[in-house]
Amino acid sequence: MKKDKLTKKDISYFIIPFLLLMLGIGALTYYTVQKRVKDVYSSMEKSSMSIADSYTASLLNYQEAYDIAMNLLEEKILVASRAVLLIDDNDSTTSSLIRLAEELQVDQINLYNPRGEIVASNIEEYIGWTAYEGHPVFDFMNSDHSSFIEESRPDSISGEYYKFGYVRRGDTTFVQIGVLDENLNQFTKQFDLQNLIESIVREQEVEHALYINDRYEVLASSVKGRRGVFVLSDDVKQHVSERIHELDHGEFEGEKVIHVCAPVYSKSQYLGTLLLIWPESIVSREIKEIVLDGLLEFLILLIIGGSILHYAYIKDKSNVRIAYYDHLTGLPNHTYLEEYLENLVVSSKARRAVLLLNCTNFKTLNMTYGYKYGDRILQQISEKVRSILTPDQMFFRFNADRFVVVVEDFKSNDELLFMANRIVDIFKEPLDGGNKHEYLEVQVAILELNGTHLSSDKVMKDVSLALSHLSQHDNEQVIIYSDTMQVEILRKEAIEETLRNVLSHQDETSFSLYFQPLWDVRKNRTRGFEALARLQVDGIGEIPPMEFIDLAEKNLLIYDLGKEILSKACDFAISLKEEGFEDQIVAINISLIQLLREEFIKDVHKILMKKGVSGENLEFEITESILAESFELINEKLAEVKRLGISIALDDFGTGFSSFARLRSLNIDTVKVDRYFINRITDSEEEEFITADVIHMVHRIKLKVIAEGVELAKQKEYLERHHCDVLQGYYISKPLPAEEAIHFAKESRKGKVI
Ligand code: C2E
Ligand code: CA
Ligand code: CA
Repeated sequence: MKKDKLTKKDISYFIIPFLLLMLGIGALTYYTVQKRVKDVYSSMEKSSMSIADSYTASLLNYQEAYDIAMNLLEEKILVASRAVLLIDDNDSTTSSLIRLAEELQVDQINLYNPRGEIVASNIEEYIGWTAYEGHPVFDFMNSDHSSFIEESRPDSISGEYYKFGYVRRGDTTFVQIGVLDENLNQFTKQFDLQNLIESIVREQEVEHALYINDRYEVLASSVKGRRGVFVLSDDVKQHVSERIHELDHGEFEGEKVIHVCAPVYSKSQYLGTLLLIWPESIVSREIKEIVLDGLLEFLILLIIGGSILHYAYIKDKSNVRIAYYDHLTGLPNHTYLEEYLENLVVSSKARRAVLLLNCTNFKTLNMTYGYKYGDRILQQISEKVRSILTPDQMFFRFNADRFVVVVEDFKSNDELLFMANRIVDIFKEPLDGGNKHEYLEVQVAILELNGTHLSSDKVMKDVSLALSHLSQHDNEQVIIYSDTMQVEILRKEAIEETLRNVLSHQDETSFSLYFQPLWDVRKNRTRGFEALARLQVDGIGEIPPMEFIDLAEKNLLIYDLGKEILSKACDFAISLKEEGFEDQIVAINISLIQLLREEFIKDVHKILMKKGVSGENLEFEITESILAESFELINEKLAEVKRLGISIALDDFGTGFSSFARLRSLNIDTVKVDRYFINRITDSEEEEFITADVIHMVHRIKLKVIAEGVELAKQKEYLERHHCDVLQGYYISKPLPAEEAIHFAKESRKGKVI
């Protein structure tokens, strides 16, 4: 079903809370992951600090030893330099300098001329090298210093690390003494900084460790070729100079790394900075784990939360199902229909229609075969109907035996009629394992929604109205609502209201009786009159008695109306009497409902007494069709009526199925042969009329015959010839108001009328 209530609830009751939950848990997970990653970094910072702390003592030892060693070295260089000053220029051959170097335990002895050129050296190939601008040798040459000790640096020619010292010889020339760092390290071996740094890498979980002084010189490094180099990274420089102890990201040896600068202090005196380096991959592995953990937590929470929501949703769905679906057929129910129609009436769809299906005689089926069987039939019917509908045509169970189909976007009424007729056909098909239900049928009322259908209530009211019209036309099974139905309803309501006002005596003018003469053939004058009810309704006019009598019967007003008619008929009988018509009879039509009412006889008697009318002056007409009901009971009632002196006429005789044999046992005095038989008396062959036979047979069972609807002279002549007792019809007179009827009676007494 396209617009299923449950799918609608899906979005509002499940998806949205689920998304919110996802968002909430997601945010929480993100926050914890973030926090844990931060923790990782801060623990790295802390561990770098503790590494720095734990090596502080060793570093401090080293520093002190280094300083001592350096002082000794510098002293040695200066001593060596001065020793060189003592040698003769002529003695400064390479071989003699080699010897001297061995004696002094230094590695280089270079003698420079005033232009900064090496003129003599213990290393042959150095002779001829000239100091250039920017070179430390050049700087010393042009300085005022008489002697100077340099920090370790790579030798310009060999690239090996040396510590150099200079002393001037007179004003122009100078001596350079160099000691290889390697040898220097031998000297400071027991305080080997390099070893210390390497042990950090070995013992601690760090990839690289470097020790840097405040001139950004790398004093030791676990990475080869880094020692003695100056730090170039601005970040590291800043961290060193500002003693910032903070984790940072960077690049080292072509690899992404994380580094922490841990300043090393001894009694608040700054010694240097330990630069500890981890490859980023270590951290990213850890972070990956944290993220994976987070993801797992997220999933677990989501599954738990989702399950709770899903359970709630299922619960809600079943509540929705109970509230909106019929448990027997699984179809959406009337509550759903109501809401659906409320939306439909405001929708802008081009054409929308509602089909109301009514299973007739379903109650009888239930009573005959039981409710369980009835339920099975309903299920089958609903499945069958569903199967001929398209998925976007909504199908509801409206109530016990009524269904509703909602059709949207159809092209013509033919489409709807076709559909309705297919539904009718479904009911004719045999049902699985069912008995034969010839009497189980369906009626379909079709209503196209228009501008007046502003609520579901109005829609259902109108389509039900159409259905009620159908019940009046028994052979039809499909009906399309039309606005005239509305008019008819309004008409019915107006009639009903007038009747009620008449009966409560608020309205004395709308209702009256007319009187149609009954012509006594033998006496050639009126035998009496038939009282015929007349109703005038404001805005409509005269209402045919058949219509308002029928309405009065359906609305349980007929009994009171019957009493009113009897009263008025009695008034007329009195008027006749007052005019001297002692033997005239007033015939009154009595409906079955009146006759069967228990207090009927008593009430009739009461009215007769009250009005002072004798039963002999009244005749009750009952229609032949009512004999189809319980004959015995009716016959008994008739006997009671007769005991009041009132004679009985059987109205509309010939339209029902009474046999003459039955008539014989019926408590009646007169038979009113229906107009149908009188109409047949025309210009055609007399042998074909059966009317004479009917009169003859009625006479044979000793009853009188009244002919109804005599309109032609020929009919009168024929009926008289065949000894019909009484004639009634327009040929004699139309029904007349009371006064005119009395006038008619007077005229007939004078023999003037016909
Ligand atoms: P009904 O009892 O058979 O009444 C005779 C109907 O035939 C009357 O119609 C009358 O006007 C009409 N009629 C009389 N002569 C002729 C004629 O020559 N040609 C034609 N074509 N019609 C003729 P009305 O007054 O319209 O009454 C119709 C029916 O309404 C009555 O049929 C009766 O069944 C019912 N009805 C009328 N008044 C009452 C009443 O007071 N109580 C009850 N229960 N039913 C009444
Ligand atoms: Ca009648
Ligand atoms: Ca009649």
